[in-house]
Order: sequence, then C-alpha cells, then structure tokens
Amino acid sequence: MKNFACTACGSRVYFENGTCLSCGHSLGFDAGTLTLVAVEPVAPDGGLYRKIKANPGIKDAVSDVRFCENAMHGACNWLVPDGAPSTLCKACACNRTIPNLSEPGRLDAWREVEHAKKRLIYSLLRLGLPLDGGTARSGTPLTFDFVAKAVTGHDNGVITLDVLEADDVERERRRQFLDEPYRSLLGHLRHESGHYYWMLLVDRDESIESFRTMFGDERQDYQAALSSHYAEGAPANWAENFVSAYASAHPWEDWAETWAHYLHMVDAVETAEAEGMEPRAAGLLFGAAWPFKKYDVYRQVSFESLIERWVPLSLSMNSLSRSLGHRDFYPFVISAPVRAKLAFVHRVVHAGAA
Ligand SMILES: [Zn+2]
Ligand SMILES: [Zn+2]
Ligand SMILES: [Zn+2]
Repeated sequence: MKNFACTACGSRVYFENGTCLSCGHSLGFDAGTLTLVAVEPVAPDGGLYRKIKANPGIKDAVSDVRFCENAMHGACNWLVPDGAPSTLCKACACNRTIPNLSEPGRLDAWREVEHAKKRLIYSLLRLGLPLDGGTARSGTPLTFDFVAKAVTGHDNGVITLDVLEADDVERERRRQFLDEPYRSLLGHLRHESGHYYWMLLVDRDESIESFRTMFGDERQDYQAALSSHYAEGAPANWAENFVSAYASAHPWEDWAETWAHYLHMVDAVETAEAEGMEPRAAGLLFGAAWPFKKYDVYRQVSFESLIERWVPLSLSMNSLSRSLGHRDFYPFVISAPVRAKLAFVHRVVHAGAA
C-alpha cells in the first residue's frame, strides 16, 4: 500500500482513516485516483462534500462526492461521485450479502472484513483487473457474500466469507485445527479472488493449456482431491513444488494459493517502497542488494524485478519478527517451481489488466 498524506494539512494518514487526527477534516478514499483525500461539506447536512485538493492546479472531472452508504455503519470510508447511479462505492457495490447487524458482534466483524476487502480491491484496481467480469465467457461480476457460520469459498464468481474469521480466537482455533501457518482475513479474500480470476483470465483457450502444464489438470475430481487432502495430508515433499501445503490439494487450490502469495508480495513490496525500506541481502542467490530506485510494483512488467525485491524483504521481515520474539512473519520458501508459478500469475495478471 502507498502512503497517504491529508490533502488539507499534509499529515500522514492511513488507508482506513475516516478523519485526519491533525486537522480534523473528514477523509475519504477516491477510487478514481486511488488516493485518500480530505473533504469538506458543501452545505451543512446535505451529505455532499467537496474534495480538498493537495494541488489546486490539478483539474479533476468530479469534485463533488458523497460517502458510501456503508459509511453510516463505520464500515467504509470510500467516496462515491455525486450523481453516480449507486449509493455504494465501487468496493461495496460488490457485496451481495452482509451479516445480520442486529446480531451481537456482527458489526465489528463485518468492519474488519471490509477493511481486508478494501485492501484486496485496492490491489485489483491498481493492477487494472476488472471487477465486473470483463470480457470473460462467464461475465460474472466479482460478488461477496459475508455471512456468519458459512463455508468460506468461491462458487462461480461469488466469494463467501465466514465473518467469524474476523474473530481472532476463532481464527486461531481454525488455524491450528487446519495446521495452516498463516491465516488471515486478507489471505482468505486474496485466495478466493484467485478462483474468481482463474475463471476470468485462465479458463480461456489461449491460456488453459499452459496452466495445465504448470499446475496440473484441474478437471480431476475436486471433491475427491480435497477429501483425500484432508484425510491423508499433503505429500511430505510438498514444499518442493507448492507454496503451501494446501496448494497440493488440487490445481485450482495451487493456483489460488499462488495468486494470494503474489498479491501479498506486491502489496508488501509497494509498502516497503513507500516506507523507503531498502533491505540488504548480500550473498543471496537473487541479488546482492535491494535494487532501490523509484518503482511502481503494480506497473512493473518484469517478474524478476519483483522477486528481486521480495526475497530480501521477506527475509528481513522474518529477522525483524524474530527480534521481537515472534516466529517468522512469512514462513514460506519459494522453490524454483513455485517461482515459475508466481511468474505465470504475473503474466496472466498483466495480460488481463485493462
Ligand atoms: Zn489533515
Ligand atoms: Zn463502500
Ligand atoms: Zn480455494
């Protein structure tokens, strides 16, 4: 994620912020420019706001905006252009079901889920990937059902997420039960979005064969594959070929896990870039030093330049994590086959970008 500055006072503000703590202006995320902007009411009580521009010389087609309808629940800080057909922002317009907010704890859980979803949508928009199904055969828009006590998964364009995953204790219980080193809301959403974009970008005549060569034939029985994964576990040598144990269950899961890791890497590298971090990794196979120069990871056509940044970054994050008495932050090894799969995801993403 980029760093944001309040456009009214220049103070540092964060993606999830609804107010600038320094100057008190309301903040909203502008999905058109993918930046956080300070706004001021056009008139008292009208719900209409005007963007405060950091640089007043820059022309902006739409400057009058409203907050997304979900702002009233504290679940969204995104803006909607005045006169837009929907009262929901681009990200919330993808929601088909939200939890029953009259049940205890659901509102807090949903807010957490929305924070994670917004980060996902930010990355998808930065990558230029369609949210509306694009030109794919199915044409299904990206759709979310956020419900309690449901099975998290993807089905034909619809991502279902159990909002109880937002509960730290419950997520930790499931994490241990399923023996996953890494379980987060954002990780779930990234994984499930992988299934959606597989449908859009890979399941096409021109890319399905190269997918099968690398990930295996996805036409094998999915339910049987999952059952045997849960019954027998992953092969002992899974780390040689897969980014996670679960990825070995079925080619679709391999793809979705690899896709999720790709999005983790891109977001983390962008954050490191924004923070001016320059991890050194002398002696590593993938380069001696963080190749620091102005860099937009979302626009980068070369996968090599991404992995050159990611490897030293993930190693230094792990070292930092151990310094603070925690286990590895990113407990994964990128083997040569996994690296090739990540490069495949990278190519698919760039080919699918608008
Ligand atoms: Zn401010
Ligand atoms: Zn919204
Ligand atoms: Zn999956």
